[in-house]
Amino acid sequence: MTKYIFVTGGVTSSLGKGIISASLAKLLQARGYSVTIQKFDPYINIDPGTLNPYEHGECFVTEDGAETDLDLGHYERFLNIPTSQANNITTGRIYQNVINKERQGEFLGKTVQVIPHITDEIKRNMRLLGESGNFDIVITELGGTVGDIESLPYIEAVRQFKWEVGSNNALVIHLTLIPFLAAAGELKTKPTQHSVKMLLEYGIQPDILVCRTEHHISQDIRKKIAQFCNVNLNAVIESIDASTIYDVPLLMLKEQLDRTVLSKLKLPLKNEPDLESWKDFLGRLKNPTAEVRIGLVGKYVELPDAYKSITESFIHAGAFNECKVRVECIHSESITEENVKAKLGKLDGVLVAPGFGARGIEGKITAIKFIRESNIPFFGICLGMQCAVIEFGRNVLGLTHAHSTEMDENTEHAVISMMEEQKKVTLKGGTMRLGSYPCELKKGSKAYNIYGKSKITERHRHRYEFNNDFLKQYETAGMIASGINPENNLVEIVELKNHPYFIASQFHPELKSTVANPHPLFVKFVAASLEHSKKKH
Ligand code: GLN
Repeated sequence: MTKYIFVTGGVTSSLGKGIISASLAKLLQARGYSVTIQKFDPYINIDPGTLNPYEHGECFVTEDGAETDLDLGHYERFLNIPTSQANNITTGRIYQNVINKERQGEFLGKTVQVIPHITDEIKRNMRLLGESGNFDIVITELGGTVGDIESLPYIEAVRQFKWEVGSNNALVIHLTLIPFLAAAGELKTKPTQHSVKMLLEYGIQPDILVCRTEHHISQDIRKKIAQFCNVNLNAVIESIDASTIYDVPLLMLKEQLDRTVLSKLKLPLKNEPDLESWKDFLGRLKNPTAEVRIGLVGKYVELPDAYKSITESFIHAGAFNECKVRVECIHSESITEENVKAKLGKLDGVLVAPGFGARGIEGKITAIKFIRESNIPFFGICLGMQCAVIEFGRNVLGLTHAHSTEMDENTEHAVISMMEEQKKVTLKGGTMRLGSYPCELKKGSKAYNIYGKSKITERHRHRYEFNNDFLKQYETAGMIASGINPENNLVEIVELKNHPYFIASQFHPELKSTVANPHPLFVKFVAASLEHSKKKH
C-alpha cells in the first residue's frame, strides 16, 4: 500500500516547504523507494497560468501541459522524474470539480457543503497519484500557512485522511520557524509552540517538526520543542539556512529525517541512500575553476522567482562546466541604444527571457542587435527567440516594420504571428500551446551538434510563432531554422550561421534541466560564454 506524507507550514510563509519536500523525496528515492510529490494550493485560480509572475513567481509547465506552481520545478530538478497535471491542485479546481458534479446531479437531493463534499474531493485528489500504483510514497505539500482561513478544508482533509488510512500509513511533517532574537541573543520556540497548538485545535498532532533556523538548535532547545509540541526528540529536525538549496538533502540526511520518516511509516530502511552523483554535482558546484557573467534580460527581474527554472538551469550547467555562473539581471525596459554597450558589453553571454506583452520589448530587441553585432554568445527563449527574429528582420532583412502581432496586430511585416489554432481561442486559462511536442533538428546545425541527435521533445507555453512566409528570406540571409516540429512545420529553433553562438528556441528548455540531466542548451551556452570570456582576456 502507498504511504502518505503531508507537509504543512507554520508561523510564516516562504520557509521552503517545497525544498524540504523535494529533499526528503530525494533521500527516500536514494534509498530505493519510488516517490512523487504533489502540491495543493489554496487559491481560487484553477491553476497559476493566469497569474502575473510578480504574484507567484514562474509558472512551471509539465510534460502533459499543466500550468503549475514553481515548486513542481524543484520536485523535477531534485527527483529527475516528470510531474503531471495530477501533481498540482488548487482550491479553484476542487470547487470546479464539485460544482460540475453538482450540475450533473451527482449529489441530487443533497445540500452541497464544504464538509463533506469539498473535503471529500480534496481527499480524492490526495489519493489519485497513490492509486496509480506507481509510487511507494506520495508526499503532499500544502501551500499556505496553518491558520489561514483558506487552508482550513485542506487541514481537515488531512485529519480525516490520516484517520482513514491509520497512523502507520500517513504522517504529518510541520515546517516551522525558530527565529533568532538578536537583542536577546536567543532562539525562540514560542511561535512554533503556538503553531503546533493551532494544528492540534484542528485535530492534527504533527509527527515531525522541521525547524527552519539561522543558528544551530541546541539539544536543550530540541528537548523543549519536543516536550511542548508532543513529539519524539528525534522528530525535531533542524533545517539550518544553506548556501544552496542542493545542500538540503544532505542536511536532512544528517538530521536523519529519512530514517525517522521510514520508522514512523513502518517501512524498511533498505540501502543507505545512494547520493554519489548528487555529491559529485555539489562538489563541482562548489569548486568552480572559472567564472562567467551572464546577463538575463527580462522584464520581471525585480522578482528572481519569475525566472526560477532559468536560474536553476544555469546552476546545473555551471556545475557541469565546473564554472561559476554569475547571472546578472537586467531590466529590459532600462536598455536603450545609448546605454546598451555599457550595460551588456562586458558580459560573457546574454539570455533574453520569455515573457508576454509589449512592455520592455524594444529593450530586448536593442539588446539582441548589440549582442549579434558584437559576437557575444546569445540564448533566446520563447519571447526571447521571437525578439531575435524581429531584430534580424528589422536590421538585417530591412523589414522596417518587423514585429509580432502580439505587440502590433496590423504590422506590415508580421514575422511572428498568432498560431492558426489560437485564433479561435477566447478563454485565457490553459489555452496556450502547452506541454511537450516533438522537434526535429537539422543535421549539421549547431542545435544538432549540441543535442547529439535529431529527434527531441521539449515543453512549450506560447500563442505566437515564426511566420513561415518569411522563412526563405531569413535562411538566405543566415538565420536558419535548425529545429522544426515535424507535424506542422512550426519553427522551434533559430540559429545564426555567422556568429560564434547565437541560438534561440520557441520552447522552454529550462523546464527540463535537472541535477541529474543538465540541459544541453544551457550546458553549451555556458561553455560558449566561458570561451568568449577567455578570448576577452
Ligand atoms: N508571448 C509570446 C507568445 O505567447 C511568448 C511566450 C513566452 O515567452 N512564454 O507566443
